[in-house]
Amino acid sequence: SSEAALVDGLIEAIPDFPQKGVTFRDLTPVFADGAALKALATALTRPFEGHFDSIGGLEARGFLIAGAASVVSGAGVLSVRKAGKLPRAVLSQEYALEYGTAAFEVHVGQLPAGSRVLIIDDVLATGGTALAAVNLIERAGWHVAGFAVALELDGLGGRSKLEERGVETFSLLQY
Ligand code: 5GP
Repeated sequence: SSEAALVDGLIEAIPDFPQKGVTFRDLTPVFADGAALKALATALTRPFEGHFDSIGGLEARGFLIAGAASVVSGAGVLSVRKAGKLPRAVLSQEYALEYGTAAFEVHVGQLPAGSRVLIIDDVLATGGTALAAVNLIERAGWHVAGFAVALELDGLGGRSKLEERGVETFSLLQY
């Protein structure tokens, strides 16, 4: 699609970041381009139109896309934050990183019970981050409407992890 071409043309491959041997896909040029960010937000929400009440933005790069997706779709953003940032009562979900663990948190009762949440992030790799968000949202009493991501890295198992969990997954680009 023209949306995919617009976004793809702005993603930069950064060798050896954050460590040697890793190629980091930098989406900051996409976020810095108004037309590309709007095209991305439109493309990620369109497949789920009518099936979500809220957009779960994953800190931090997911927040940028989620905000734009909110404006194009009319749904608000559920803040899925890293541990220790939210001021009210939270529910917490740990997940494994390459070294150590991290945790996502949401405010308890942030959305009405049964709300349908479309989770958005920038990149899907192993799926560990996405799965943590799925688990957290379900434990909070909400329903996961799907997972939408700008870029899916093939061969790392992310999509199959999400599909095993019954989560419909959409990616604009696949590398
Ligand atoms: P996963 O948990 O699926 O292995 O990794 C996905 C998470 O790591 C996402 O939150 C994403 O932001 C980040 N991530 C992993 N690799 C990349 C990359 O090459 N570029 C960017 N922008 N984020 C990445």
